[in-house]
Amino acid sequence: MRLIIFGPPGAGKGTQAGLLEERQDLVQISTGDIIREAMKNETPVGKEAKSYVESGELVPDEVVRKLAENAIADEDYDDVVLDGYPRTTQQAEWLTTFMEEHDIAIDAVLSLEVPDDVIVERLSRRRVHEETGETYHLDHDPPPEDVDSDLIVQREDDQPETVRTRLSVYREETQPLEDYYAERDLLVSIDGQGDIDEVYSRIESALDTRVAPPEA
Ligand code: ADP
Ligand code: ADP
Repeated sequence: MRLIIFGPPGAGKGTQAGLLEERQDLVQISTGDIIREAMKNETPVGKEAKSYVESGELVPDEVVRKLAENAIADEDYDDVVLDGYPRTTQQAEWLTTFMEEHDIAIDAVLSLEVPDDVIVERLSRRRVHEETGETYHLDHDPPPEDVDSDLIVQREDDQPETVRTRLSVYREETQPLEDYYAERDLLVSIDGQGDIDEVYSRIESALDTRVAPPEA
């Protein structure tokens, strides 16, 4: 199965993609995680991406294209959940071409719908583990007590001003992909409000009706 998980910053894409990895044996491919890792290791891509990420802008399409395509190829083009990719019309078109070239297809685009006030609350309370990249929420998904609290930090781009930039970049550049995928009959809207397991159950039911089981 190949899925895209789509939605504004803070909608819960990473959280739900992580659960799909755990429970459906999909491999989560998060361009955000790949880019942050590259920044941490100060690779050429990381150095190029840094100023964009920190200001809340998108990293140039060309850079992200290679990262995403290589990650999909590493999984033999199978059983992936793309988290945070594509994010522009050009990225979506490239992905469509890439899939066609490899004779594969996306099964569904799960669009997590969450109002702005909930997004702002979720991002202001999001914390990450500096070393593992694991994501938490101070109230809804707190770090376990045995985790060293000094390693639990707020992402630089989760500061309120950068969140505002990311939301407006999302509206301008990423939201139009809803139409792109609706026209291709792939878009599945999921209510992203409520607790984490409730949202996951909605995803599971949507997949049950949407993605046909393999033929016996
Ligand atoms: P969030 O999950 O909060 O939406 P991500 O962790 O997915 O944020 O992404 C963090 C940042 O990494 C983005 O603001 C952007 O700068 C960069 N990024 C991630 N994915 C892409 C992409 N597909 N295209 C361009 N930039 C990206
Ligand atoms: P995204 O990848 O879309 O930016 P995340 O998965 O990182 O979003 O979630 C943003 C924040 O909200 C994190 O702190 C996460 O723990 C929390 N979160 C995710 N889903 C829910 C939910 N259903 N209810 C409450 N908090 C949530």
